Amino acid sequence: LPIQLANALPVLRQINQAGFEAYFVGGCVRDTILGRHLHDVDLATSAYPQEIKQIFSQTIDTGIEHGTVTVIYQHHTYEITTFRTESGYQDFRRPDSVEFVRSLEEDLQRRDFTINALAMNSAGEIIDLFTGLADLQHQRIKAVGVASERFHEDALRMLRAVRFQSQLDFSIEEQTLLGIKANAKLLQYIAVERIREEFIKLMEGINRQAGLQTLFDTKLYQFCPGLANCDFQQLLDYSTGKIDDEATIWSLIGYLERFDKKQLHQFLHHWKIANSTIKLAQTAVQLLLTVNRNSWDLYLAGEKAVNVAAKVLNLVEQSHLSQLMLSAYAALPLKSVHELAINGQQVMAVLKLSPGPKIGYYLQYIQKAIIAGNLQNNYQEIVNFLKTNELEFK
Ligand code: ATP
Ligand code: MG
Repeated sequence: LPIQLANALPVLRQINQAGFEAYFVGGCVRDTILGRHLHDVDLATSAYPQEIKQIFSQTIDTGIEHGTVTVIYQHHTYEITTFRTESGYQDFRRPDSVEFVRSLEEDLQRRDFTINALAMNSAGEIIDLFTGLADLQHQRIKAVGVASERFHEDALRMLRAVRFQSQLDFSIEEQTLLGIKANAKLLQYIAVERIREEFIKLMEGINRQAGLQTLFDTKLYQFCPGLANCDFQQLLDYSTGKIDDEATIWSLIGYLERFDKKQLHQFLHHWKIANSTIKLAQTAVQLLLTVNRNSWDLYLAGEKAVNVAAKVLNLVEQSHLSQLMLSAYAALPLKSVHELAINGQQVMAVLKLSPGPKIGYYLQYIQKAIIAGNLQNNYQEIVNFLKTNELEFK
């Protein structure tokens, strides 16, 4: 048993001892069988949220109305969700109501794919009511029940199928794939935040190429923000190599699409990306689109953006340029204005100036000289430099 599940076993047992059923469910069971790294452990139980809260001393009301309580046990947190059914999906997204039930089978039935509908009890036995084990074995993603119906209930599941295809390097079972093709347009009813989460996981998956191909073939991409107008062939062509951070995903797209700052901002705004990430991607893409990049461009971009830009260059099979960029940045004698051996106050004192926009100009002049290799980042050297160049400033 993986350490995360072993640590959580006493939690299952305590719920059992209080007279309720409890199981590990979903991704943690799937990933245990696949021997993949687990990142969270989810539990399902016949106990109601209030009953769970009576069993454990440290709990957080995460989503009581949906049946979820977070239990903190020996410094780990576990989401414990009461068995439930869902009904009334009128808008192709979340159910109108959830109903707590006491049977595991009904709970597993509401789950998206057979490989995600496995449960494990405290004895380590797998409960497989929907051919999940066989589908794991055959490496296929298959909807629980009738695919089309399941996608009508919650259209996000279509994108999740494609995400799992990329993440697990599985194929999508035929009826499930047909269901996606027939219902792709329902994705338009899904909140951008949910689409984004799955799209990022798709892009970070080991078989991004297959995921992107399915996104294209099923036309799901037309209902992802801004992707309808993207040059998909380019994305497919440059889809080898691992991506491990969000900024690289957006910068890759921005670079392939040759987006200027404003276009990239618009694109990422549709995706509701955090401002800090937008800025980082803008800087990286701008750097990538600069012809004859020099060390000053690298300096202005800064370490984070240079790293992202270098990752993008690797993805587009320009690893030599990527290496060059990284070593050029590493060789910069100064990495940021904070490392400068003189500050604005001192510049004012040396040149007997009063505050004003000129100070910034002098500081930049100093930085340029250092980056160009014409001046050392040393207080006395900089003072001498300022004095000998004083006339030129005026
Ligand atoms: P990951 O490794 O990315 O966390 P996961 O399978 O745990 O993958 P989650 O999004 O954490 O995915 O969801 C946990 C479980 O909840 C899933 O395994 C699945 O059983 C169920 N589930 C999640 N989203 C849906 C959905 N939209 N429709 C039906 N079941 C879902
Ligand atoms: Mg999970």
